[in-house]
Amino acid sequence: MAAELKIQHETDNPFHIARQQLREACEALNLDLSVYEILKEPARVYTVSIPVKMDSGEIKTFIGYRVQHTDATGPAKGGIRFHPDVTLDEVKALSMWMTMKCNLVGLPYGGGKGGVVCNPKRLSKGELERLSRGYIRAIVDVIGPDKDIPAPDVYTNPQIMAWMMDEYSKLVGRYSPGVITGKPLSAGGSLGRSEATARGCVFTIREAAKCLNLDLGNARAIIQGFGNAGCTSSRLLSELGVTIVGVSDSQGAIYNPDGIDPIALAKYKAETGSVKGFPGCQQVDGDALLEMPCDILVPAALENVITGSNAPRIQARIIAEAANGPTTPEADEILHKRGVMVIPDILANAGGVTVSYFEWVQNLQNFYWTADEVMQRLEYMITQAFNKTYAMSQEKNVPTRLAANMVSLERIAQAMADRGWLN
Ligand code: NAD
Repeated sequence: MAAELKIQHETDNPFHIARQQLREACEALNLDLSVYEILKEPARVYTVSIPVKMDSGEIKTFIGYRVQHTDATGPAKGGIRFHPDVTLDEVKALSMWMTMKCNLVGLPYGGGKGGVVCNPKRLSKGELERLSRGYIRAIVDVIGPDKDIPAPDVYTNPQIMAWMMDEYSKLVGRYSPGVITGKPLSAGGSLGRSEATARGCVFTIREAAKCLNLDLGNARAIIQGFGNAGCTSSRLLSELGVTIVGVSDSQGAIYNPDGIDPIALAKYKAETGSVKGFPGCQQVDGDALLEMPCDILVPAALENVITGSNAPRIQARIIAEAANGPTTPEADEILHKRGVMVIPDILANAGGVTVSYFEWVQNLQNFYWTADEVMQRLEYMITQAFNKTYAMSQEKNVPTRLAANMVSLERIAQAMADRGWLN
């Protein structure tokens, strides 16, 4: 997806925000100060240069990063982002959020993240393959099925994962599908991976609706972003009886209080390239859409879209963060005071990494599961994580984001203590 957002203020620095969230969770749990001291910096940060032979015959060097936040609870796990605006601080923040996400769901991983500063839209397929293979050659010694297991993220996809797995396997001299997840089925991928993020998100919405006594059969939803996460979430929500009243993408936004058929809309977008102009709908401004009448709002596009300025006017009772980092800390405070239930990103979009974990388990065992097995296990793990988060927020009377971080951090701190890191 297009992370058009630019960091404008020092306070928007995602690494500072991630650290602040970590600190708040440590304080709320009254944890040993050493826990914060150890986790506030990633354990390992690698910066690599990747020379790539371009189609013109010239060599161009790209900069890549791989950050392993902690291995307190297992090998590092997290995606690789290809984007012109990738910065080291962004990758460090994302690696810390991966630590929190994996431990919230109870996965045996620490957090990791990678990024390459590049514009994949301007690379030919051959250049993209050479860049992907070059990145793996540069980090081959620090990744592996029991060290650090990457996955797709913004502008990387199953094809790129297959090239990376192939390069790693050649370099280590054995077929190693467990080094990376999000692969195509033919290269050791898992059934259900492509829908996993949206399925997880919709499981959390279903549970949140129960807590609020919201009847999904009478509920209306607005979805920002109609890509992998947004498009599938709208279809799954409508299968639960929710009326989809608004949808946006990077080119426009549409609203129809009588409902939008997500399957017809997906077909329309595939034909025209956008949701804009979908028949029977009002064309509205993308920012204004977030404030229109609905019960459930699913930001599934960019960072920092729910801010101090629009949070007071958001009408939804539930905000399910399919996207990473859509709500600013200022907006969080306002929403909490207004009683809006925010399902934080580390919970709402954890379905993706959960099925990545299933893929890795299947690769290590060389034994593959049915789609039903994947879905049942996903439902169980996400529902558990939701219930623990909700119980923590009720018991300690804290916002759900802090509660999710507290649930996660309790598990990490226990592992650190048991391993003797805090003595
Ligand atoms: P995607 O590229 O498939 O879709 C992104 C969508 O956002 C596109 O429809 C795009 O048009 C839209 N968009 C871009 N700018 C917009 C704007 N200004 N207003 C409205 N819409 C806009 O990406 P995706 O995989 O669906 O990821 C979306 C978010 O979910 C990201 O934050 C990503 O990190 C997060 N996420 C995705 C997964 C996954 O498995 N796909 C897992 C975890 C988190």
